[in-house]
Amino acid sequence: MYNVMSPKAEEFISHEEILESLAYAEANKMNRELIDRILEKARERKGLSHREAAVLLDCGLEDKNQEIYELAQQIKKDFYGNRIVMFAPLYLSNYCINGCEYCPYHLKNKHIARKKLTQEEIVKEVMALQDMGHKRLALEAGEDPVNNPIEYILECIHTIYGIKHKNGAIRRVNVNIAATTVENYQKLKDAGIGTYILFQETYHKESYEKLHPTGPKHDYAYHTEAMDRAMDGGIDDVGLGVLFGLNNYRYDFTGILMHAEHLESYKGVGPHTISVPRLRRADDIDPDVFDNGISDEIFAKIVACIRIAVPYTGMIVSTRESKACREKVLHLGISQISGASRTSVGGYAEEEPEEENSAQFDVSDNRTLDEVVRWLMEMGYVPSFCTACYREGRTGDRFMTLLKSGQIVNCCHPNALMTLKEYLEDYASEETKAIGEKLIEGELDVITNPKVKEKVMDYLANIHNGKRDFRF
Ligand code: SF4
Ligand code: SF4
Repeated sequence: MYNVMSPKAEEFISHEEILESLAYAEANKMNRELIDRILEKARERKGLSHREAAVLLDCGLEDKNQEIYELAQQIKKDFYGNRIVMFAPLYLSNYCINGCEYCPYHLKNKHIARKKLTQEEIVKEVMALQDMGHKRLALEAGEDPVNNPIEYILECIHTIYGIKHKNGAIRRVNVNIAATTVENYQKLKDAGIGTYILFQETYHKESYEKLHPTGPKHDYAYHTEAMDRAMDGGIDDVGLGVLFGLNNYRYDFTGILMHAEHLESYKGVGPHTISVPRLRRADDIDPDVFDNGISDEIFAKIVACIRIAVPYTGMIVSTRESKACREKVLHLGISQISGASRTSVGGYAEEEPEEENSAQFDVSDNRTLDEVVRWLMEMGYVPSFCTACYREGRTGDRFMTLLKSGQIVNCCHPNALMTLKEYLEDYASEETKAIGEKLIEGELDVITNPKVKEKVMDYLANIHNGKRDFRF
């Protein structure tokens, strides 16, 4: 029985409710009147239910699809402006006791190199990331209570926050580790993590159990209820995601929105981010078995419909996607992207030798951070290295209230300009710097409050003179 307020996975992600929603969407995909009503509601920018969003995803009317894309673009502009927040993943360890059939880190893969970074190696990796200009990391580790216990993760976080190298600093560490206990989530919270990220992979229980035949991850309910436990442990910001390509995309699209509704209704705060990874080629993974792939066109539609359905949730796309594809979805709703990522354990400080391949998947976008930053600016985006909210205690419902009031833009935009200025001063090539300085000059005019503008100009001058870390 579907119940958004239930603590039980199978009730807040009800299989029957998803099937009914999909049937409803299929039956109404040419229903112009209904689609108009849903779009009208969406224009209020308060979001849509999973069922309404499913209808838009299936919509077969060309002119209405155009309206969907236009509305997604408009909502993206209204809520996130032209800013794109930058981050990088850091793989700590690929030891894993799970049997996920789509991931090369699965226990039975005997020919992938197994690695776990020591604290000394972490220092080197993080210094290399700082030297690129990164300020925000997403830590990744397989599930292995012997090799990667929670104490190891906590030690790594502590090491990372402690590294001060030249003008560099990692100011926000997000963590993507396996579902765990309330107690461990409390420890992560106390260690000062930003967002706790856990991908559901698929919400379809039967497929989930087949794809995860062995290991603790096999337990669908424990995995699906992890975000509730994370919030019980005091973590306000959680990041959802499914791996598109594992299962029917309509099913998982509806599932992820139901999960967002559950968190909002039951815990009072919706997800901080939604990631939209697509399955990629990887070691020991048969591409023919996992060719549930979705086209670029459907991928773009998913991004647009998520943007409309949950306007307050940031959306992340990684270097799994090519430059061309990222370009296509950026304006439809993506608010964060990774840049210059290595998906191996280590690899930032030194290139990994071919025979020691420890990568989780192939990267499609291999450009340097400088190239990615320049590319964004050439398209009119402002790359942002901002981490202010979490450091100002603006998390969970405090963050959402500010976002929903529309006031957050008064923080995001100045912070984006100031952190971009830091990047230009410390890390950019001459060409990127020239483009960036011009961009910042033009973007100052977007700040309408004269007092704020004056303060930003003062801070920018200070940054030029060597001071760092100003924020609103
Ligand atoms: Fe392990 Fe995660 Fe890979 Fe599964 S997806 S095998 S849990 S690292
Ligand atoms: Fe994100 Fe807050 Fe910075 Fe805006 S001010 S970019 S919401 S951290």
